[in-house]
Amino acid sequence: TMQQEKGSLSIHTENIFPIIKKFLYSDHEIFLRELVANAVDATQKVKQLASMGEFTGELGELKVTVKLDEEAKTVTISDNGIGMTADEIKKYINQIAFSGASEFVEKYKDKGGEAGIIGHFGLGFYSAYMVASKVEIFTRSYRDEAQPVRWECDGSTEFTIEPTVKEQRGTDIVLHIAPDSEEFLQGARLRQILEKYGKFLPIPIEFEEKVINNPTPVWIKNPADLKDEDYLAFYKELYPFSEDPLFWIHLNVDYPFNLTGVLYFPKLKNDFQLQREKIQLYSRQVFITDEVKDIVPDFLQLLHGVIDSPDIPLNVSRSYLQADGNVKKIGSYITRKVADKLAELFKNDREGFEKKFGDIGLFVKYGAISDEKFYEKAKDFCLLKNTEGQYFTFDEYREKVKENQTTKDDRQVWLYTSDAGKQDAFVAAARKKDYDVLVLDSPIDSHFINSLEQKLEKVSVKRVDADTVDKLVEKEIMPENLLSEKDQEALKSLFQGVADNKSASVNIEPLSPDDLPVIITFPEFIRRMMDMQATSGQR
Ligand code: ADP
Repeated sequence: TMQQEKGSLSIHTENIFPIIKKFLYSDHEIFLRELVANAVDATQKVKQLASMGEFTGELGELKVTVKLDEEAKTVTISDNGIGMTADEIKKYINQIAFSGASEFVEKYKDKGGEAGIIGHFGLGFYSAYMVASKVEIFTRSYRDEAQPVRWECDGSTEFTIEPTVKEQRGTDIVLHIAPDSEEFLQGARLRQILEKYGKFLPIPIEFEEKVINNPTPVWIKNPADLKDEDYLAFYKELYPFSEDPLFWIHLNVDYPFNLTGVLYFPKLKNDFQLQREKIQLYSRQVFITDEVKDIVPDFLQLLHGVIDSPDIPLNVSRSYLQADGNVKKIGSYITRKVADKLAELFKNDREGFEKKFGDIGLFVKYGAISDEKFYEKAKDFCLLKNTEGQYFTFDEYREKVKENQTTKDDRQVWLYTSDAGKQDAFVAAARKKDYDVLVLDSPIDSHFINSLEQKLEKVSVKRVDADTVDKLVEKEIMPENLLSEKDQEALKSLFQGVADNKSASVNIEPLSPDDLPVIITFPEFIRRMMDMQATSGQR
């Protein structure tokens, strides 16, 4: 039998670079995000040292510059941040190669092939080797006495470090682009990546003499300093071709996690799909992804805007993310904020809220159906519209129809039309019997109705159609029938004769003068069959 044995895994560092390249392959443009983010960090650090009085030299205009040299086949990322001494390079760059990358190899060595896992695995500096066959660092620390150094490594385990000449404080990272990565020697491609990941980085990023970013987006500002125009202008910056949003929420929380952002309510109307995947996730102003489906509940993804949180773990797989406690809290925090904002708008400006409801009703209903906590708040501002264009909360509606629409067993019958055009006649018939009729015609209303019946006690929600209208309790005394028995019979056979459907039955009933003169009704199942035949006939 086998004895228990213990030991340590040996990791061959020569294998690290090919693995980095392979695992990060699907997302290799990320190298630029990582290196620019490091450069931004370096400038933030020197600024912080200055504010603490630990750096007393000239700060200068802090910025990051990206340069392309097509002839030399290099891309250079330069900053005037803190820089590094030779010891710091040894500690932060050389060591990380072993700790960071070997930890990475440890973790994933058995999971070869799953390139997706590493989609957002920020390997920092070493992601440069996804696209470069050789990397040089020229750096000069902010410390006065520091000797500028040059470091070089071609992706093997050998590196060189030596004194160099560099006048300016800061760091230049020079990437010698590998032959299989020459797409990154195109200016347009670099610009596209910079704009994607760096559009809102906190210090200016210069590329081809132009600053590509807005370092002070609205979400990092104090709401008290912002006007409506500022929020609208930012919306245009995010989505240049979109219609103005209806309103927005400025998010700002620092406990139990950090999160800032602005969420906009677009004009949804009944459009359920086209508007999705517009929320952008940032971490300290670095763009991470616009796939937020594991972070934000589904119904909230109908909103647009930006969420920025350094507390969302970015370097992990999706399944891990879903289980993360912070991520769950973020979802429920946003849900609560959104519900509170809607409640406030409803309370402060009912008329304005009703006007907007056509555009946000879909969102409110979807939230009410899918999220219990949201429903608890939404039940007081989710509106029902009737065929007269009046709006009611659930409670108000219960009150409105109490007298006329309560059955013997003490239930309420709520009627609705899902297609006002086609069901006009039934609506008219129901209204004549003093029944109110709601309009529920959005793509999720059938689910919404189910959930209303489950959540509201003693309410049945029924569609107005031939079956329901026939069963409605007669409330009115009808005017006398003006036709003689004989005339009625004649009229009946006349209509029966022209009806091309043999299951049509003709009834002569007294009508009031404001009624439609003729109503042709079919049993509900026949009507549906006719609808089906009509649509299949069109194909
Ligand atoms: P991470 O940023 O995740 O710590 P990196 O591999 O990206 O890992 O970088 C390792 C360290 O190297 C950084 O924490 C920083 O101390 C140093 N460093 C990287 N780039 C720069 C730079 N442009 N200027 C100064 N220091 C840097």
